[in-house]
Amino acid sequence: MKTLFKCSYCGAIYEDPNKALECETRHLKIEDAELLGVSGYSNILGEEFPLEARIRFSDGTEADYGFSRIVKNGGST
Ligand SMILES: [Zn+2]
Repeated sequence: MKTLFKCSYCGAIYEDPNKALECETRHLKIEDAELLGVSGYSNILGEEFPLEARIRFSDGTEADYGFSRIVKNGGST
């Protein structure tokens, strides 16, 4: 039997626990992020959803994210 270690953020599997911890520390954490703004609203299922959001992470990096899908009650629409 072999013990493997999984990064809790991306799911990568490692034999070395230190490599798994190292992988986890490389991921930017959403809880450290700040929502800078949203744009490009669109009417979807009768509600105005933003199509883009800009987020700044704790290291100062900013990234734009786009609308993908609506999730209600654990399922997608
Ligand atoms: Zn990872």
